[in-house]
Amino acid sequence: MKLKLFTSTISMLAFATFATAPHAQDTQFPSLQMQGVERVEIEVDIEGATERLSRAVRFPTISNQDRDDFDTQAFDDYHAFIEESYPLVHTTLTREILGDPRPYSLLYTWEGKNPDLPPALFYAHQDAVPVPPDSLDQWEQDPFSGAVVDGYIWGRGVLDDKNQIHGILEAAEMKIAEGWQPERTLYFVFGQDEEVGGPEGARYIAEVLEGRGIERFAFVMDESAPLVPGIFPGLPENTALIGIAQKGYVSLELAIHALGGHSSQPPAESNIGILAEAITKLEDAQFPYRIHPALRHQYRYLGPELDEALQPLYSAVAFGKEGEMTDQEKEFIKMMSANLVTRAMIRTTIAVTMFNAGIKDNVLPPAATAVVNFRPMPGDTPEVIIEHVKKAIGDDRITVRDISASTPATAMADPEGPGYKALEKTIRQIWGNDLVVAPFFVIGGSDSKHFQARLFAPDVYTITGIQLESMKEFEGFHGVNERILVDEYAKTIAFFYQIMENLDDL
Ligand SMILES: [Zn+2]
Repeated sequence: MKLKLFTSTISMLAFATFATAPHAQDTQFPSLQMQGVERVEIEVDIEGATERLSRAVRFPTISNQDRDDFDTQAFDDYHAFIEESYPLVHTTLTREILGDPRPYSLLYTWEGKNPDLPPALFYAHQDAVPVPPDSLDQWEQDPFSGAVVDGYIWGRGVLDDKNQIHGILEAAEMKIAEGWQPERTLYFVFGQDEEVGGPEGARYIAEVLEGRGIERFAFVMDESAPLVPGIFPGLPENTALIGIAQKGYVSLELAIHALGGHSSQPPAESNIGILAEAITKLEDAQFPYRIHPALRHQYRYLGPELDEALQPLYSAVAFGKEGEMTDQEKEFIKMMSANLVTRAMIRTTIAVTMFNAGIKDNVLPPAATAVVNFRPMPGDTPEVIIEHVKKAIGDDRITVRDISASTPATAMADPEGPGYKALEKTIRQIWGNDLVVAPFFVIGGSDSKHFQARLFAPDVYTITGIQLESMKEFEGFHGVNERILVDEYAKTIAFFYQIMENLDDL
């Protein structure tokens, strides 16, 4: 997952929290926090598990932006290591190595006792972001040494996202040793290229599973934010945010091909001038602001836990109706739109990212191209966006072409459904009741978008099942000194152990 986007999103929500008081009004805004869940104790071989995770981070399964720079040996070795580390998993589950065109993703199938039940899927990714050489001296431990020091397991990928892969595998190995078998079929998918959008791994496996005729997943879980105190500003408590919907991704190329020529005799309009004007018109034609239903659900859960003075405002957003816009919702949108990060949560964004034309100072280029990246809200399909762009530009000389492996905005997982409840219950069984659990709207996104954008997997819940002590530890995500506490890793394993069991009762 893209941490920067996420943390800045969250920090900007502080803005909403400390905004001016709304018009007073009596509101019924009851807390939706699940009550009375008893904690469970699960005994984990944490010494062995730590050793295995420490070895796992030594495989440099890096996703570089240059996709030709791909270390196939690192992935092959990592797969062999996983196989030898979890023998029961590999004799009980079916493993396939998939991906298109390069097959380095893992798909495990654990057949349920009742394979007619809708299956569940756990997703995590093998790849990690590179370590920039100029940041190496800031690491207290070598990022690929798998050091276990001061109660932490250190290394690139240990937090994002190998602790989830190994948490899942440790839990499955324990369960099999106890003779347990799931009721519903469980899939584990470990992608190879999440950090570059998942075109070869997750997207392909979503296609494969869809092709196998799975009608509907009962539950899909993927990474997002870990549990962290104060992750939601205005709420100092420990908080578990569960992503329930993700924005889409579309990149369009705008191009003009007309006469070039010698710069000594220029025409009235140059290709560069025409395209530049088109880009300006497009930036002036922003998409309208909307409150996504996932954002309403986010405030339904968080609102009652936040500052009382602002609850009427949160309540208006939480219970607002589609197609209507009250004054308080307008006020909320005004607050959100004042900042570029929160603004991204309330509309389809337009970002001009590339502009190319010309090769020499005295030659008029015969062509000019620009690339515009959009992050769509639901309903803004590539067709809708292309239509919007053409209308905004109003110039037939410019062609518009979708050049991305585009994904639409995803469906929204049911924030009141059995999957969400099973997840919240499990979180409380492992981490206790002294924390807030709430759904949220993800503007960045992770590989599960490839599943959640399809009809067969609307109920995707995204959360990284590990506790961090503070927001400071969160900086290790894509940053330096990525590490997790050994004791917390034991809870991650317990979490997966418990949720596998709880999914039997969906
Ligand atoms: Zn990640």
